[in-house]
Amino acid sequence: MTTLLVRPAPIDSESATGYLLRLAEANGYTSLLDLDLLVSNEPRLEDVAGIGALVGTTRLGKLRGAVTGFRNLKMTDPGGLDQHYWNGRRPRYCPACLAANSYWRAQWDITLVTACPIHCVELCDSCSKCNHPLSWKRASLAACDCGASLGDRSVVQAQPGCVAISRYISSSFETTPPDGIPAIQPPLNRLRLADFLAVCVFLGGYAQNDVRKPTKIADLHDVAIAISFAQAAGNALDAWPSGYRTLLRHLVSKDGGQASSNRLAQWFGYFYTALYKRFGDRQFNFLRDEFESHIRDEWPGQLAERNRRFSKSTRTEHKWISLTTAGKTLGVKRSMVCSFIERGMLCGQLHTTATGRTSGTVRRDTLDELCAEKAQWLTLTEAREVLNISRKGAYALLNSGKLRPVSGPTIDGRSIWRFVASEVIQLAS
Ligand SMILES: [Zn+2]
Ligand SMILES: [Zn+2]
Repeated sequence: MTTLLVRPAPIDSESATGYLLRLAEANGYTSLLDLDLLVSNEPRLEDVAGIGALVGTTRLGKLRGAVTGFRNLKMTDPGGLDQHYWNGRRPRYCPACLAANSYWRAQWDITLVTACPIHCVELCDSCSKCNHPLSWKRASLAACDCGASLGDRSVVQAQPGCVAISRYISSSFETTPPDGIPAIQPPLNRLRLADFLAVCVFLGGYAQNDVRKPTKIADLHDVAIAISFAQAAGNALDAWPSGYRTLLRHLVSKDGGQASSNRLAQWFGYFYTALYKRFGDRQFNFLRDEFESHIRDEWPGQLAERNRRFSKSTRTEHKWISLTTAGKTLGVKRSMVCSFIERGMLCGQLHTTATGRTSGTVRRDTLDELCAEKAQWLTLTEAREVLNISRKGAYALLNSGKLRPVSGPTIDGRSIWRFVASEVIQLAS
């Protein structure tokens, strides 16, 4: 195969497909389809070797991105980023950047890059004059086949979440990030690009889809769809961990029907499993640590000892504990704990399962208060003194339900009646 006559040098982090179009244009070909045909004449050469033969000794190592969508012209990303993160179908770009320097930035070819972090505008993927979707099969790098210049068009301000995601991804392509781009904050700045993209796809997917369905993303090559996805991922990573906490609350609130369950997997669906299985490596500790903090602070379900995924401190310091444990702490039966919840003496929640069994949880701080208060529970004699009534009068109040015991013969089978001091005092006033 003949080496092409004009062989422009690749630019740092130039799109591989963008470079090939620049190469085809410089050599007078009508489109990349011509180069595709040229490579096909050399059946022994595949992948990078085929493209390498076109440019002879010109080094292609600076290029990034996968070349797809052609019969023979194929290349995997020289930087090793998995192909499914690349958008080979529909090119997108920042008009201002392209007008300033006419080459295709590799980061524009990443599906989740939807904004220009320098100009803070949405990337474009169609022609503003003829409205046709942009294609890699066009004749010129900087113009639509209708003749319109791609750099000369109106743009739309990008949403902050999209800019944040694009900024992070772009920063891993630029050796020196342009001025005015704030550094990515910990813990995200410790992630490799592939890991960062995996986190974005995971969080963006759950922010957009039903919690029980595994993440399914279709049509992300369309910039309009990718924008709403990137915005959701950007929101989830915003002001860490605030945006992530909002997402976790959203995962639960979206599915109120499951909220009667006491199990983490039912509250959070596959998210919970994926978090610990797919994101089990060290670099993702921040995701799991923050999930654990969220559970400790906000989850009203009960954390069983069997939740081995959580640290011992989370399990023992969890704000919500089981009815049985609460009963043991108070020295009363489980049914009594339910009654305390119903009477407002404990803050808790009760659910009835399909089999008719009552389950629920109690907030630890209210249990501690009740334990302290329990020492002050009054006997019948003490209650009578507070109320200044006879034994007969006390039994009349008991029978009428005005004086409500918390312990005693008809309550938990104990021989001595006990009453909550504050309730008796209230009755006396
Ligand atoms: Zn730009
Ligand atoms: Zn056009």
